[in-house]
Amino acid sequence: MASIFTKIVNGEIPSYKIAENDNYFAFLDINPLAKGHLLVIPKQETDYLFDLDDEALSGLILYSKQIAIALKEAIPCKRIGMAVLGLEVPHAHIHLVPLQKEGDINFSNPKLKLSKEEFEQIAKNIRAKLHS
Ligand code: 5GP
Repeated sequence: MASIFTKIVNGEIPSYKIAENDNYFAFLDINPLAKGHLLVIPKQETDYLFDLDDEALSGLILYSKQIAIALKEAIPCKRIGMAVLGLEVPHAHIHLVPLQKEGDINFSNPKLKLSKEEFEQIAKNIRAKLHS
């Protein structure tokens, strides 16, 4: 069965999309730790990040870099933190989280409740900072 993230890539489940290319897809996390918290995934459905072959893994990291640069321009923060957990959704993904302090990337923190309009505005602001 297709993962929830494959369904997002295929447009079967809606998402606040940031960007995609032939191999990778970036979208806002629906339960964000901070405004702009997003996920970058390979379109190829692989559960465990380190099962990706070298080319797919390095491509995912480099794509995440492009997204992180735009994210940092869009959301005032000190750094973009990066995390991989993968305990909930069995489709490899990188979390990118704008950080003001180390604790902002603690996944035990309460998640933000944002309105549809807030998610849409955040996604728009990040997309506007993407460099082609
Ligand atoms: P992890 O597998 O890294 O432990 O957690 C999966 C992440 O995916 C969580 O942060 C969760 O909020 C996010 N997530 C789960 N389902 C959806 C969904 O349907 N849409 C979006 N945008 N994010 C999701």
